[in-house]
Amino acid sequence: MPFARRMARWAYDVRAWALWTLPKWLVGLILLAVVGAAAATGVAAATFQVRSHDLILFALLSSCVVVTVELTRQEGERKGLVKDVYSAWGLPAAILLPPVYVLVMTVIYYSCLQWRVRKAPPHKRTYSAAIVGLSFVAAGMVFRWLRGTAPLSAPHGTTGQVAWCFALIAAVLVYSAVNKVFMIAAIKGSDPTADIRTSFFSREPLYNDMAEQCIGALVTYGVASNIFLVPIALPVVALLQRSLRHAQLLNDSRTDAKTGLLNARAWESEAEAEVARAVRARMALAVAVLDIDWFKRVNDTYGHLFGDEVLKEIAQCLPGVLREYDAAGRFGGEEFVLLLPHTRAVDAFRIADRVRDHISGLSLHTTDGQAVQVTVSVGVAALDAGARRELSELLAAADAALYRAKRDGRNQVQMISTTRGLSAVGGQTVSINGIGGVPAAPSAWDVLPVGNPHPADDTDEIATKV
Ligand code: GH3
Ligand code: MG
Ligand code: MG
Repeated sequence: MPFARRMARWAYDVRAWALWTLPKWLVGLILLAVVGAAAATGVAAATFQVRSHDLILFALLSSCVVVTVELTRQEGERKGLVKDVYSAWGLPAAILLPPVYVLVMTVIYYSCLQWRVRKAPPHKRTYSAAIVGLSFVAAGMVFRWLRGTAPLSAPHGTTGQVAWCFALIAAVLVYSAVNKVFMIAAIKGSDPTADIRTSFFSREPLYNDMAEQCIGALVTYGVASNIFLVPIALPVVALLQRSLRHAQLLNDSRTDAKTGLLNARAWESEAEAEVARAVRARMALAVAVLDIDWFKRVNDTYGHLFGDEVLKEIAQCLPGVLREYDAAGRFGGEEFVLLLPHTRAVDAFRIADRVRDHISGLSLHTTDGQAVQVTVSVGVAALDAGARRELSELLAAADAALYRAKRDGRNQVQMISTTRGLSAVGGQTVSINGIGGVPAAPSAWDVLPVGNPHPADDTDEIATKV
């Protein structure tokens, strides 16, 4: 291909990069990080002295990086936030070698990931490599600043060892802070709805971070005494990498791939435990089944892909409308389930109606810009305090209430409770006095008129009915 055509093609490819679809400030941040890392590499390369000891250590650490990627390749890499144990090799390189080595090693690592594990959008990989490289350079600088030059050798004497450990901890904290700030900025910039607290600061990611940093610190200390100890750390690091993936796989097995909500099995096992707890502690609880109205028509009119987008949008809005301790799951197809612990029937109805109202207000856009609205029908089953029921009974009751909501015109909430006398809650309420042993058809239920005068009490209606 002639040079001019090749350049024109390249310019066209560059214009098509997904990078340019991001907010301008984020594009600026990504370019800044990449240019910063390139400049740091240039400066570091121009000022470092070649020493055979450094070269051997660099070769050993880089080989371990490549081997770790190869050993754990089968587990693959998820999209989104990726947990790895690169610090196990990156930290010793940052602390014990001139900065150029950790920058080059980071490029090697991310190139291996890109070509051997998963092809990610190039701007994401490049940004990750740049901020990880710069974070390690910052960590190395802090360590040198605290410990002076020639940090390669392990410390002697108690005071020296304590000071060395403190310097190492400070370096690790600096690495972690710089890395997180840049990561969070990029994630929030590309997806403002991203749940940063769960992704970064919940128990599992913090525990993983700590394991990664601790193994990094141990390898650094060991290597500082004897660089030929590097290969000994390899199986341990590979095992740790696997175990991180294992936790991710376990998490994946609990979530519904399309919506990110709990899948049916995970929701059920959580709900079963919660119902048992509520019965034991004589606490109120409710479950709700939510079904999109006329969803087949949505698919038929706008296509299956748009239907999938609707499912995702609804799933995404649920955590925002629910309370933190409620659990939403996808039960299958276009049906969702909600677990509302510690919730009296009257509140369960309000929450379900808030969800219904919120969804009916969502404006979903097709690829050609058309705004589409969908509604949902919700069936709620409330376990009143002191009642004894199992999840399967509550689900059957909620399903029957949903059937009523569909039958009575859709876009509404219907509720059923274990206690007699639940009356009007808002205009659309139909009060039902008891689950009645979960009848085969909802028509068998005893429906009370709205505004039913029976006071709510804790009598379990079913106990007398069955
Ligand atoms: P109703 O108001 O009575 O619930 O009507 P409906 O059309 O929602 O109910 P129906 O059960 O007839 O149709 C459900 C549709 O949901 C049919 C199926 O193609 C669609 N569906 C199920 N799972 C998915 C999915 O994962 N993606 C998409 N796009 N559609 C799905
Ligand atoms: Mg359905
Ligand atoms: Mg439906």
